[in-house]
Amino acid sequence: MKHVAYILLGSNLGDRLNYLSRARDKIHELSGHVIAVSRIYETEPWMMASDLPFLNQALKLKTQLDPHQLLKSLQDIEISLGRIRSEKMTARNIDLDIGLYDDMEINSSELVIPHPRLHVRNFVLAPLSEIAGDVSHPVLSRTISELYKDSSDHGEVSILARS
Ligand code: ADP
Ligand code: MG
Repeated sequence: MKHVAYILLGSNLGDRLNYLSRARDKIHELSGHVIAVSRIYETEPWMMASDLPFLNQALKLKTQLDPHQLLKSLQDIEISLGRIRSEKMTARNIDLDIGLYDDMEINSSELVIPHPRLHVRNFVLAPLSEIAGDVSHPVLSRTISELYKDSSDHGEVSILARS
């Protein structure tokens, strides 16, 4: 398990807590070892064709999979949890994104790492800063905590009491 990846989980449809919990279990089973989890945040949908609030969480994963294999395994998990892949930016029962993968930069048509919204969205920065506060963003060369502290995003995030 030589690589470290940070996975971003999101859900705004159906039994959101249950989707997050089943996704965590499946990631641990199929993608690698989950070695840290953030708390769960309830967050405002951002520029979406849906006004249902999201639950967001971040995981730290040790994995043998390369970035494309990891993306494939996360997509398989989304499908196994019944995600219907429709338009981008619509409501979804589960969304699993790769936030960071080692200190790698990837810009291919199917995979962009670091995740392009990572540094500008409180719904990513809040959970991620709990488990990756000291990690440096490989493109911006600033830590996740610094990026969160200086975030100009106005999106509301609150810790879910039940998590
Ligand atoms: P969203 O952008 O809202 O997460 P989807 O989950 O439907 O939308 O993903 C659309 C596409 O984004 C995927 O098919 C995948 O190829 C691509 N993608 C690019 N970079 C990433 C990443 N870092 N993590 C996950 N998917 C990514
Ligand atoms: Mg996605």
